[in-house]
Formats: sequence, C-alpha cells, structure tokens
Amino acid sequence: MTVSGSQYLLQVKNLKKHYASKSGFLSRVKPVVKAVDGIDLDIRKGEILGLVGESGCGKSTLGRSILRLIEPTSGNVVFEGRDILSCNREEMRLLRKEMQIIFQDSGAALNPRITIGEIIGAPLDIFGLAKEEEKERRIIELLELVGLNKDYVNRFPHEFSGGQKQRIGIARAIAVQPKLIVCDEPVSALDVSVRAQILNLMKKLKNQFELTYLFISHDLSVVHHLCDRIAVMYLGKIVEIADRDELYRNPSHPYTKTLLSAIPNLDPESKRERIVLEGDVPNPSSPPSGCHFHTRCPYRMERCSVDAPSLQRIGDHHSVSCHLFDDQH
Ligand code: ADP
Ligand code: MG
Repeated sequence: MTVSGSQYLLQVKNLKKHYASKSGFLSRVKPVVKAVDGIDLDIRKGEILGLVGESGCGKSTLGRSILRLIEPTSGNVVFEGRDILSCNREEMRLLRKEMQIIFQDSGAALNPRITIGEIIGAPLDIFGLAKEEEKERRIIELLELVGLNKDYVNRFPHEFSGGQKQRIGIARAIAVQPKLIVCDEPVSALDVSVRAQILNLMKKLKNQFELTYLFISHDLSVVHHLCDRIAVMYLGKIVEIADRDELYRNPSHPYTKTLLSAIPNLDPESKRERIVLEGDVPNPSSPPSGCHFHTRCPYRMERCSVDAPSLQRIGDHHSVSCHLFDDQH
C-alpha cells in the first residue's frame, strides 16, 4: 500500500488490537478485550494530534500499536507511504529511528544503573549516528536542548526530579532525529507548574525539528494549548475528531461535551453546565451493544443500543460518531 505525495506522515486504517483477557481462564469462552477496535486516523506532517479519553479506553494500546511495539491484530499503519505492519525485522529496526515514544513514567523507563549521558547516547550507538567526541558533543547538545545542565551528564536517573526525568526521556527520543513521536501522557504525572514547562519545551522542539506528535492524554485541558487537532476515544473507538478550536467551540459527541464540561474555567465566558456521566466505564471485554456510549449517554435514543454509529463528517475537519447527527445528512 503506498500513498503518493501525501501530506500525511501516518495513516492508520481500521486498526484493531484485541487482547485475550486473562480473567477468562476458568470459563470456556475467553473474553476478548477490544482495546483498539477499528481505528482510522491520519496524522499530517508537522502537526500535533491529541488523543484523549478516560483511562482504559485504549490510548496506550493505539500508540504502541502504531509504533508496532505491540503487534496489532489487524489493520494498516502506513508511515510515509509504507505499511509498517508488513515490514520485516530489519526494516522495522531502521524505522525505529523515525518513530520514537515518550512515556508517562519516564523514571521507570530510564535504566537506573547507567548515567544520563549513557542513556541519551544509547540510541546514537544503536543507530551508529555518532561515536567518541562527536557523540559526547551531541549528548551535551541534547542536554542543553532540553534545558538540562551539561554537568549532569555523569549523574544517575534517581538524582533527578520528575520533570527533569521527563526532559531526559525527551532528549533520548529526539537524539535520533525522529519524524514522529508518540507522547503517551508525558505530563500526567507532573505538577501543574512543571507540566507547563515540559509542554512548552515539547512545542519548542517540535517547531525546531519539524516533528510530528501523537499526544496522548486523559485530560482535555492538557491538550488544549498544544494540539492542532484532537481525537476523542471511547472504549476502543474514535467518537469525535476535529481541529482544536472547533472541538472546544463546538463539541458534538455527548462524550466530548462531558469531558469538556469537567474542565473548570477553560473558558470563563462559557456558560457550559457541568454534565456528570451516569455509571462507570463499562467493562471493555463486554462493551455495551450498539453505540458503546449509550449506557452513559444523556441523549440516548432507542436505536443507540442496537446500531453502532460510524464516524461521519459534520463540518470541515470535524467528524463525529453519534446517531444524533444521522438526520443531518
Ligand atoms: P489507556 O492507555 O487509554 O488507559 P490501555 O490501552 O492501556 O488504555 O488499555 C485498554 C484496554 O486494554 C484496558 O481494558 C486494558 O485493561 C486492556 N489491556 C491493555 N494491555 C493489555 C494486555 N497486555 N493484556 C490484556 N489486556 C490489556
Ligand atoms: Mg495509557
């Protein structure tokens, strides 16, 4: 599958990742968790696409499937015109240089027994990008790029704060000059003041190196200033996707409205009422029939428990998966 002259860096088509649930070992039929259940997503070169949804809705599984850190069940992931799911081991190894990931818990992702210099230098070794003095120089440059003192180069991860560890994780990710970075809740564990610093840093680096981000967050307020477009996910599916301003101005899926209404003071002019969701997040191994959201939806109609809606365009760069919009087309 090739895409010629595409403005897209990445195209995800009908991607699925189903896990055999561990809890089913006593029953004859193993329940399947449809963590990612038929996702279509395009990411343009140079954009920051936000991916938002409650914990457990499949965001990390989607991010890792895109990078093939876990093997998707089916679908296509087309990166620069190449379907990476059909790449062999060596092709995949080379592609790893183009696609990096930053984790929420960067502390746990850093080897505690090696120095910061070695951590940041490791990807340079793996891909043979720089050796000896050139490597030393590059490591110092990377430390400075992410706002860390170059004298830290011989220190160990435990000597750093959460925000500093995240800076190290970012330095390691950009060391190989990737094109795409999947940022999996990189600021969720940080204090609010540190969070803003890291977001600013990520934005600066994105502009400086023409990076493209898939930025995952469970919190719509975090992605507000950063992202160009935002996709909202619920139980393995995208329920709404729109340009950032359009999504905040005109949230259309009832789930998006709920997420937005939970953010205090996002827009002081807004008279938005707080909508409280009924019930808990359903068990993903037995999601509700029809529209997965119908059990918690304040606007549910009869057909919502029977027919699964699909994403439909409701405006420029704005699609929503909800039967409330069926009559409009
Ligand atoms: P999020 O990142 O949005 O919190 P995840 O992608 O981590 O969500 O998880 C989505 C669903 O898949 C959850 O129900 C989770 O329990 C399940 N899941 C994640 N990883 C595995 C796994 N390795 N085996 C079985 N189920 C998993
Ligand atoms: Mg996650």
